[in-house]
Amino acid sequence: NAVAPSNFLRHVIENDLETGIYQGRQWGGSPGDAQHHANGMPDPAKVRMRFPPEPNGYLHIGHAKSIWLNFELAKEYGGVCHLRFDDTNPEKEEQEYVDSIRDAVKWLGYETYLADRPSAPGTLQPHEYFASDYFDFMYRAAEYLIENDLAYVDEQTPEEMRANRGDFGKAGIDSPFRSRTVQENLTRFREMRDGQLEDGAAILRAKIDMASPNINLRDPALYRIRRATHHNTGDKWCIYPMYTFAHPIEDALEQITHSICTLEFEDQRPFYDWLLDRLAEKRTLPDGTVVGGLIASPHPRQYEFARLNVTHVLTSKRKLRQLVEEGHVDGWDDPRMPTLAGLRRRGYTPEALKLFCERSGTTKSAGGWTDYAALEAALRETLDPIAPRAMAVLDPVKLVITNWGELMGGPNKDESVLDDCTAPVHPHHPEMGERHFKIGREVWIERTDYEDVPPKGFTRLFPAYTNTSGQAIAASKVRLKYGHTIECTGAMRSADGQLLEVQAKLVPDTKSGTPGADAIKVKGNITWVAVADAVAAEVRLYERLFAEAQPGGGELLDELNKNSLVKCSAFVEPSLANAEGGAGFQFERHGYFVTDAKVDGAGQHVFNRAAGMRDSWGK
Ligand code: ATP
Ligand code: MG
Ligand code: MG
Repeated sequence: NAVAPSNFLRHVIENDLETGIYQGRQWGGSPGDAQHHANGMPDPAKVRMRFPPEPNGYLHIGHAKSIWLNFELAKEYGGVCHLRFDDTNPEKEEQEYVDSIRDAVKWLGYETYLADRPSAPGTLQPHEYFASDYFDFMYRAAEYLIENDLAYVDEQTPEEMRANRGDFGKAGIDSPFRSRTVQENLTRFREMRDGQLEDGAAILRAKIDMASPNINLRDPALYRIRRATHHNTGDKWCIYPMYTFAHPIEDALEQITHSICTLEFEDQRPFYDWLLDRLAEKRTLPDGTVVGGLIASPHPRQYEFARLNVTHVLTSKRKLRQLVEEGHVDGWDDPRMPTLAGLRRRGYTPEALKLFCERSGTTKSAGGWTDYAALEAALRETLDPIAPRAMAVLDPVKLVITNWGELMGGPNKDESVLDDCTAPVHPHHPEMGERHFKIGREVWIERTDYEDVPPKGFTRLFPAYTNTSGQAIAASKVRLKYGHTIECTGAMRSADGQLLEVQAKLVPDTKSGTPGADAIKVKGNITWVAVADAVAAEVRLYERLFAEAQPGGGELLDELNKNSLVKCSAFVEPSLANAEGGAGFQFERHGYFVTDAKVDGAGQHVFNRAAGMRDSWGK
């Protein structure tokens, strides 16, 4: 099962399922609301959850945790889960963000975000949810609170409000506007709505308790005046609901059962319950009419879990936006960004991210950090069994096999003759097929695979030499993986010592896969590609974007790793020439790479490294 057994939320859900608290609940909401013409219909889902991002930036790895948690829990308990855009803050929200969020959730594999909702009696249809679709209902709920003397229009200045709010251990002071009559409040609130007051001139507040030990209950703001064009509702409204007021209502209208959020919202829970209790309760007036019941009962409950923190990773949309806007990265989907768009471009897969989320645990204790290495480990573990293999030579230097024509070129000692080599696409999955490439007189090898005088333990190419104690050391013999065995004979260097070319001799009858090929012992295997069929490529190697292990505490720019991207030229084997954007590979020796999805066609080949073969950070 996908959700770790230690997850405390499972106990909550299991208990609710056992008592059947939400069973038989009917769709509520105010009659006549376009989106609630299913009032009174039973809700078939016993568990209904949601992932509610604000479309004010791209989703990051922290959101992946929340997405995974909500969707997997719903799935596990036979419930439903959907995506809701929490778009009540017009200035910061944009269509680009809505689109990117939709893409990210879909990419993670939770397409059922188009969760069912009743559209007409007896039918359920897929639906995408926007908080802004409920602005009419929210407005009506606000008037309902006013009518019941539970809210008032406050016209203190923001400074007065702040000062009168009190502090921890110090009660707040009632606003002089708190004693306004219901009628006065209704009139004034409608004037707010109708644009008769300036931005910031008044707010609607809940009337709870200015002396409450929980500051969130000291008459929290419900509505503010803000002349801003909304990406969905345009200029219809000049007042917008506050998050704390809007969010519980969104949950209630969508019949959420378990509303999961991060621990920062724990102090908001009493207001969440206060508001939904008020909207759900029904009262019978002296004349016998029943009022209230604006939302279905029982209403959703909020549960908090510890947010995901990953070392060397920043999880704050606001700060990530700063990196984008100041040009420290190449957009929200820069492969170094912890956004889902960036991780995807970097080569991370939904499977790897989900495994990582599961392992990171779901608890109620704040402040934990999950090691970045766990993210890479999850990637390796999920990709190793499935990633096609390929050879790529980074920082290449030419190797010339000087006796090639003589041994391979037939009677004419043709230097240009090529030989065919074969390798499995995956060493453990013959059904994945074979790769084919050439070998010839000239091949590209890694510059670091040659040394004039080998350091201790070096198992690659070096020519015969005399060591410091005067001992003659034989040249190394090395296998060109999937090709032949060669013996190093020397190298050419430029006047300033730069390695220009490595030379070697082919050892006869050592072609990989032929009888007796391994009779001659070699020091090691090296990867290579033939000059004849190599594909030129750019390889981008990434390190952590933040040198700081727990970034976000200090000045952002001081915490950045200045060397988070190294671009190098490379040659890759011909099977990669037509790799599609976003296709992933294991480059033998080098780790997991993906074709950069942004550099498509046009003969340009760019590969991003998602992770090395093993954890080498700081080593
Ligand atoms: P940020 O602080 O980065 O802007 P946010 O919480 O304001 O994040 P929302 O769009 O409101 O962003 O987030 C949607 C959901 O994702 C919320 O339920 C929030 O609690 C959850 N979430 C955000 N960051 C994390 C995190 N690091 N770990 C787990 N859940 C997270
Ligand atoms: Mg938020
Ligand atoms: Mg935020």
